[in-house]
Amino acid sequence: MNKLFTVVLILIEMTSFAQNNRIPSKGLAMFSKEVAFKPYEFSRHAIGDNDILIEILYSGICHSDIHTAKSEWGNTEYPIVPGHEIAGRVTKIGKNVTKFKVGDYAGIGCIVNSCGECDPCKNGEEQFCEKRMVGTYASKDQYHNNEITQGGYANNYVISANHAIKIQKNADMKKVAPLLCAGITTYSPIRFSKVKKGDNVAVAGFGGLGHMAVQYLVKIGANVTIFDINEDKRADAQRLGAVKYINVNNADELKGLNNQFSFIISTIPTKYDPMLYVRMLKKDGELAIVGVPASENRPILNVVSLIGVSHRKIYGSMIGGIPETQEMIDYSVANNIYPEVEIIPANGKAVDEAYQKVIDGKVKFRYVIDMKTLN
Ligand SMILES: [Zn+2]
Ligand SMILES: [Zn+2]
Repeated sequence: MNKLFTVVLILIEMTSFAQNNRIPSKGLAMFSKEVAFKPYEFSRHAIGDNDILIEILYSGICHSDIHTAKSEWGNTEYPIVPGHEIAGRVTKIGKNVTKFKVGDYAGIGCIVNSCGECDPCKNGEEQFCEKRMVGTYASKDQYHNNEITQGGYANNYVISANHAIKIQKNADMKKVAPLLCAGITTYSPIRFSKVKKGDNVAVAGFGGLGHMAVQYLVKIGANVTIFDINEDKRADAQRLGAVKYINVNNADELKGLNNQFSFIISTIPTKYDPMLYVRMLKKDGELAIVGVPASENRPILNVVSLIGVSHRKIYGSMIGGIPETQEMIDYSVANNIYPEVEIIPANGKAVDEAYQKVIDGKVKFRYVIDMKTLN
């Protein structure tokens, strides 16, 4: 009897030890696709020898968060805490970690783990990991018992140090978070397509991603045309250095634009006709697609129509690897390139309202949640 009692006690202690090592976390979650954001307490995996714990200061709202929270990209598991534009401070480090020390600023984008051994991982393209990258939220974490990751609308995050981004002390922390998705998602294809000074280029969709693309392209010295459907953003386009703003709903403005651009980036998150932009490419021109519309609104390309505008290239681009994300943060901070943000408090009502404004195209240009105001 005594022996059994001791065994049970040891078992209870072992279980509670494992649970104690988990990191308590609180955030804002959706509990079904219709219901509003509510406070949610949960826990994250323990801090491994190669991990760091980050206290989250700011968390950006990306359109992908909305698609996932509302289950528009497939079957979202609830509750879900979205958020993959995270800026914060390191509060604990695992014993093998040398990249960070306690007190450093750190960022988290869309990738929190990958195998580190396959060719893409070794090439710093962790987003293409052959064993599948672990996403920041709504992703099965094969390195931690397949638990589903929860994102950055929360007070903390535990991440593999190799997948966190160093943020300089002089960075504008209020604005830096959206660089981790909106920044890298546009920076990477601009580099991939080797855009250079004097090129005629265009940005389709002038929102959170689009306004970052414009800033990077203007910094390079390209001549930037912007396409959107919102008349209110015409002055912003000029202010950010674009040479032309086209309201796509105005047929007259669309005249005479075919064969004009060497590079176009489409950040459009709704239904549209990609061929409109393919026809605007010069021969050898490239259209980079980074916007991902809801499942029922995805454009379908008529392949035959491509032959009519031969030798133009279309490619998709998904975020960027960790080394390129680090390069983008360093470049952005050094050149004072930041998103234009509106800071909102960390409560369900404020996030619900922000979501609605993003859906209605009324945001200029990115909402960032001040996670320190979370109760
Ligand atoms: Zn995003
Ligand atoms: Zn890999």
